[in-house]
Order: sequence, then structure tokens, then C-alpha cells
Amino acid sequence: MSRIAFIGLGNMGGPMAANLLKAGYSVQVFDLSFAAVATAVAAGAAAAANAAEAVAGAQIVISMLPASRHVEGLYLGDSGLLAVIEPGALIIDCSTIAPACAQKVAQAANARGVDMIDAPVSGGTAGAAAGTLTFIVGGEAAALERAREVLQAMGKNIFHVGANGAGQVAKLCNNMALGVIMAATGEALALGVAHGLDPKVLSQMMAVSTSRSWATEVCNPWPNVLDNTPASRGYSGGFGNDLMLKDLGLAAEAAMGIGASIPLGELARNLYAMNSQAGRGALDFSSVVKLVAKDA
Ligand code: NAD
Repeated sequence: MSRIAFIGLGNMGGPMAANLLKAGYSVQVFDLSFAAVATAVAAGAAAAANAAEAVAGAQIVISMLPASRHVEGLYLGDSGLLAVIEPGALIIDCSTIAPACAQKVAQAANARGVDMIDAPVSGGTAGAAAGTLTFIVGGEAAALERAREVLQAMGKNIFHVGANGAGQVAKLCNNMALGVIMAATGEALALGVAHGLDPKVLSQMMAVSTSRSWATEVCNPWPNVLDNTPASRGYSGGFGNDLMLKDLGLAAEAAMGIGASIPLGELARNLYAMNSQAGRGALDFSSVVKLVAKDA
């Protein structure tokens, strides 16, 4: 079995690495957070003192970092990992980043004899923990085939959508729709509650009606409508508001690059920016409902 280096053990990377360990892979991990490394070690991972140590002897390197600058910083430059990753290895970057950044790092990797795919994910922290993520892959088909078994240990669905960077474009399309749907769902629930409706009954009705979505059924933004949602634990964990804000900014950039119009995407980007300015940047993005319902 391939030896795997896993870098970035946050809300998503932590449970993803745990599933690789459960599947029997040997995993060397690194994160800037000592607590995140300690959790992975308790699950059976080997701790590395830094990223370069983590990739030593690894045939597969997986990264799950917040944004483009973290991915570029990790792989490129004089102290970047491409200088030490073994030629012939495969990089699977699961972070959601700018398509252009994914292409830039992949080209630099290829120049050093290292394959790379962008494989951003959908499914949230629950999907990461359950091993049911959807991987949205950009890159060479042959590189995806090398990655397939490892991806299957962490996810259920794998879509090959095109060349390097295409996985990121598809992921941004998904998240732009998600950002709009979450804000709209919160607004609808707030209106119902302001009229005296029970948010649970309203959500149960919507979940089997035409406004049915992940936001009504799985990650409902109203507290105590569903168990185990960020909303029911003070909006902690989950998908950070500022990560959604980043993704909507990337979608806006992608739209501007080709002159496309995304009126709802732009509106949603402003709502998540307002939510961040209200001090909820680190909370789950479903806390956007608080813009229209202070008591939620
Ligand atoms: P997170 O902030 O919880 O975790 C990121 C981790 O990366 C942190 O533990 C941080 O310490 C670590 N890190 C940052 N820079 C590092 C470096 N140079 N070296 C080593 N470790 C470093 O973020 P997350 O929620 O796990 O999201 C990660 C990525 O996945 C983001 O791009 C996000 O947009 C995407 N994503 C998140 C979700 C979700 O529901 N949380 C869902 C799908 C996709």
C-alpha cells in the first residue's frame, strides 16, 4: 500500500486522514496546529516535525489547506515541497483554491516529474467523517487512476471534470449555488418564525417540498431543528463563514475573467462579507441567518 503524507488536518483534513488510517494506509502528518497533529497521532498517524519531513518517502502527498496562498506557499519557492517530494510521486490537493493557482502548482510539479491533480471536495465535515465525500477532479486521467483507491477510502463519488484547474472551477460552481441556497433558506425560516411558525415543522415541510436542499435537510441553519448541525452547537465546526466568503470571491474572479454575470453569487458574497464583519467569520457559514434573525 502507498505511503501517504497528509498536510492540513483541520475540520476536513483531520477526519479524511483518519479514514485513510482506518483503511490501513501508513500516514505521515503535518499541521501548524499541535492539537490537530495530536488528534491524528491518536488515530494512528505518524507525526512529522515539518512538511518536508512528512513527505519523505511518500508516494502520495495530500494537502487540505484553507486557500491559494497556503497551497502555493507549501509547494512552491526555495523552501517549497516540490524541492523535496520524490520524482514519480503524486500530489492530490483537496483544498478549494483559485483554478489558476491549481494550474500553476501542477505545472511546476510536472516539471519536476511529479503528477498532480486538483481534487476539491463536497460533503462537509459530516461527509469527511463518514468517508462519503464527493471528489471533483481536474488533471490527467492517468493521474486520477493512480489516486482512485486512496480517494475511495475517503469518499463515495469521484467526478473527473477536465484538466488541471477544472476541478476547482466545478467546485466553485457548486459552492456559489450552496452559498445562495443557504442564505435563502435562512431568510425563509426567519420569515416563518417571525410569523410564529415552529422552525422544525417549517423545515420538515420544506425538506419534502420544492425548496428541499442540503440546507433544509442536512445542515439546517436554524438552531435545534436538526441534531449534530453547526447551528445546534452555536455554529461551531462545519464550514467556516470566511471559507465560503473566499469561495464566492473566487467565483467572482472566475466570472470577471470571462465577463460572465453572477448577480446572485455577488449578492451572496456581500451577505457573507457582512456576516464576517459582524464577527462571525470563524463560525459556520449557516450563521449567515443571523443577519436577518438575531435570535437564531
Ligand atoms: P480548517 O481551517 O479547519 O483547516 C485548515 C488546516 O490547515 C488548519 O488545521 C491549519 O492549521 C492548517 N494549515 C494552514 N496552513 C498550513 C501549512 N502551511 N502547513 C500545515 N498546515 C497548515 O479548514 P477546513 O474546513 O478543513 O477546510 C480546508 C479546505 O477545504 C478549504 O479550502 C475549504 O474551503 C475546503 N472545504 C471545507 C469544507 C468544510 O465543510 N469545512 C467542505 C468542503 C471544502
